[in-house]
Amino acid sequence: MQKRIHILAMGGTIAGSAGDSAATTGYQAGAVGVADLLAAVPQIQQVAEVTGEQLAAIDSKDITAGLQLKLVARVRELLLDSSVDGVVITHGTDTLEESAYLLNLVHFADKPVVLTGAMRPATALSADGPLNLLDTVRVAASDSARDRGVLVVLNNEIHSARLVTKLSTMAVETFQSPNGGALGAVNDGQVVFYHSPDSCHLSNALSVSEQLTKRDSLPYVPVLYGHSDDDGRLVRMVMEQGAKGIVYAGMGNGSIPERVEKELAAAVQAGLIVIRASSSAAGMVTKAEASYEQAGFIASGLLNPRKARLLLQVVLACGKDAAVLRKFLA
Ligand code: ASP
Repeated sequence: MQKRIHILAMGGTIAGSAGDSAATTGYQAGAVGVADLLAAVPQIQQVAEVTGEQLAAIDSKDITAGLQLKLVARVRELLLDSSVDGVVITHGTDTLEESAYLLNLVHFADKPVVLTGAMRPATALSADGPLNLLDTVRVAASDSARDRGVLVVLNNEIHSARLVTKLSTMAVETFQSPNGGALGAVNDGQVVFYHSPDSCHLSNALSVSEQLTKRDSLPYVPVLYGHSDDDGRLVRMVMEQGAKGIVYAGMGNGSIPERVEKELAAAVQAGLIVIRASSSAAGMVTKAEASYEQAGFIASGLLNPRKARLLLQVVLACGKDAAVLRKFLA
């Protein structure tokens, strides 16, 4: 019997439409509906029994926490629905890694949830969306994808939601996992896994996902991007604006200029949770300086700043404290 795969369409370049087939910029993201996306790849019907649903039709740079939570809620329903074997999400690439990471945090089933997108609009010469979609359905329908958490498939590669990131502004091979590499590939239609991801779901993912379905926003947690001559004034400003936590994207191994460190330490004293992440594209953020530990900052480990932000938002939304976060990131 064919696997039953449900597609949630969110918009993005994969559903982008441009007047000129040679154009790969200046198009309207999210203009092509899910029925047309599927119609462009009739081969999908040989792989699985596929149904589609339009959840949004946006350029993913505009995604809000409200919409991310709607996605979490709908995926939760599908994971609990015994008539669905796997979920595919078509999503703009700009924030794809964020939605994928959020879904992975609260993933509680062995069913595959697989996200894809495209770097060239549907109307472009050599559009990458159709094959990405076909490969993604192949992965979602594959028994070998079960129990591997939320996955991201583009350019014939399979990545974990936790480690994947968009590295290049325009290349079709933009999605990479600099810390660990791809989990697998789709070679000429054949799904192959090289290794399994560390799951890194929240231990109580089923109940956390339920709590999230009752919300339409998440606590305010900005990412502050470190740079030379940073004097820390932005820390004070975001605190005045009601930040509940801060992710500081420091240099290298999460290094923080002394003046900023003082402000962030004051933020911890005032009750905020502060995560040290890095603006570097690869590598892990470790505890590093003793003063960072004394101040109570939490190292982001392998999480990039945007993923660390989502984790902190979910932890805060569930009323959990720094100790829980520290343990999760250890
Ligand atoms: N701006 C687009 C989006 O994220 C880019 C893409 O999908 O490739 O929706």
